[in-house]
Formats: sequence, C-alpha cells, structure tokens
Amino acid sequence: MNLRRYAERLGDVPAYVYDLPGLDAHAAGIRRALPGVEIYYAVKANPDPWLLRTVAPHVDGFEVSSGGEFAHVREVLPGARLAFGGPGKTDGDLRLTPYRMHVESPGELRRLLAGRREPVDVLLRANLEVPLAGAALAMGGGATPFGMDPGGVAECLELVREPVRFRGIHAHLASGLAAEELLKVAGAVLEFAREVGAAEVNLGGGMAVDYARPEARFDWAAYGAGLAGTPERLRIEPGRAMTAYCGWYLTKVLDLKRVHGELFAVLTGGTHHLRTPVTKGHNQPFTVFSAGSSTLPEETVTLVGQLCTPKDVFARNIRTSLRVGDVVAFAMAGAYAWNISHHDFLMHPKPEFHYISGIS
Ligand SMILES: *Cc1c(COP(=O)(O)O)cnc(C)c1O
Repeated sequence: MNLRRYAERLGDVPAYVYDLPGLDAHAAGIRRALPGVEIYYAVKANPDPWLLRTVAPHVDGFEVSSGGEFAHVREVLPGARLAFGGPGKTDGDLRLTPYRMHVESPGELRRLLAGRREPVDVLLRANLEVPLAGAALAMGGGATPFGMDPGGVAECLELVREPVRFRGIHAHLASGLAAEELLKVAGAVLEFAREVGAAEVNLGGGMAVDYARPEARFDWAAYGAGLAGTPERLRIEPGRAMTAYCGWYLTKVLDLKRVHGELFAVLTGGTHHLRTPVTKGHNQPFTVFSAGSSTLPEETVTLVGQLCTPKDVFARNIRTSLRVGDVVAFAMAGAYAWNISHHDFLMHPKPEFHYISGIS
C-alpha cells in the first residue's frame, strides 16, 4: 500500500485514494465466509465505477436504490444482476426490469400492476418489529417510511398477480449491528418469511463498521456460520462494510491556530468532500504524513476544513502532533463519503481521485 507516495505528491487540492487490491481481497474474504448466501453490493455506499468493477467478481449482483443507480450500474457492468429497492419509485422506475424489484408498499404494488405487461420478480420489503438494540440507524422495527408492516405485506400477497411474481421477502432493518445481533434480526425475518411462505429472503445490509476502532472488522465468518444450513434462498446486501476500508481522503494542514485557548488545525478540503464524520457524529480516524523530520510534542487539536461553518469538523479534541504542510490521510473513507457530501457548498475545488492500481 503506497499511500505515502500520494501524500508526498499532494498539492493544494485534496485527493481520494482507493486501494483496489485491498478491496479485492476484502470482498473475496466476505465471499469465502458466506458459502451458499448470495451477496449483492449496496451501490449507494459508493458507486465509483472502479470499486464496482473490483467488487463484481466476488458478488452475485448489486442492490440499487434509484433509477439513477440502476442506469449507472447497467452502464458500468452491463450484465450484472440488479435488485432494485428504495422508497419513492417513480412510474418510470416501475417500468424497469431488474432481476428483483423490492416492493415498498401496497400502493407501489398497485402502480406496478397497473403500469406493466412485462413480467417482474418481486420481494416484498417487510418492516418488522425485531430487537434492534445497538443499531446506529434503524430503518425498521417501528414507524419509518421503509417497507411495510405485516398488515401491508398481507395486503400485497392478496393483490399480487401476473405479470408481477412474488418471490419472497426483503428486509433491511438496521445498520451498524455486530454479527450476533444481525443474526438475531435474521432469525426474526426468517420466521416471518416462513409464515408467508417465502422461499427467498434478502436480509439486507447494515453490518457494523466501527470508526473508533479501525482495525476491528465485522465478523463475517460468524455471520456466515449462523446463516449456514438455512433452507431458504438467502441474499444479503452489504454496503458500508464492503467498501469503507478501501478509501482514504488526503488533505493538507494550512493553518494551526489557538482560539480562546483551543487549538485548531485548518485543512484543505472539508466535510463537503468527506461528510461521514458529521453525519455519523464520530472522529474520522487518520494517519499523519509529516512534512518535517523533527518530532513534535502531542497536543489536543480539532481538525477542521475550509468551510465557513462550525460543523466542518473531521475530528474533535484528538491527541496528535501536526505542523503546517503535513498531510492528514483520513482512513475509512471508502463508503458514504464523497458521494454523500455537499460538493458545491462554498465552491472549493473538487478532490482528485487516484486508484492504487492492481487491476487494469
Ligand atoms: C443502505 C442499504 C443497504 C446497505 O446498508 P449498509 O449499512 O451500508 O450495509 C442495504 N439494503 C438497503 C435496502 C439499503 O437501503
């Protein structure tokens, strides 16, 4: 891994650097840990074409959540199987024919039935009450706009008819769960799926990524072992835990200043490029590539970007030593990072993109 080379070459414009061989190995490991379970990468975590191509040999397909993502993956990987989910599908979306369409409500199913003659295979997205303690984000288990409660699923099962084919149940109930919790959720989803006679079950994504402990990893082997032997045709849709670790965001220290007693390091770029720490409320982990050779004492410092808002914070009150010109490489910037950020706010230049290349 040659991050240092990119750090040494960094100018005034920040850069994203993606480790494609690292992603390739990580995705291969996930594949090995889950024999018999179909894996669809959730594209909204990071739709970068090179990441999609790198993940492709290790997955069975891709989960897309909009007509835009559908068209994007079709273009990058024309033959890939797609599962199309997400609330708020337009009539145009409902005319598409993905490998699986995830139906979000009885109303959506009615529009699907009214709008098409071509067959389409659907999973009904269930929002079930399951134990979700410890989840970072809850998409289900209560009143949210995602999926349907069991009453909604029952209504769909009465409505469904050709050319719409009921294949099974989809559930993506929470994100940020460890394997053990995710298996409990899977158990509840499978129980429900059996009640409605579903032969195919998509258990969603939401595998935990711990930004406070970059070296910790979701226990794919435990998850795979827990799902082994399930008679239903199983599918999962990891996003964050697939690509978070393969990306770095490189920025440079422009200024160090003490204001009312607190030390701030002002870096090039900002949360308009890397919004992840603000949205998740964490300190983004990082490595410093120093511009100097002497060692400095550690100090408590808050790392901020170039935006004129107090929310533009990468990491608050962390212990490190920095000098002007140092490069700060933020790790775990491969998922929900560049693509969820408000790029045009303040009109700073866009970052460069580099791929540590192991594939041609
Ligand atoms: C976002 C999303 C995923 C991926 O979630 P992660 O937490 O990134 O693993 C999977 N399925 C659906 C339906 C989603 O909306």
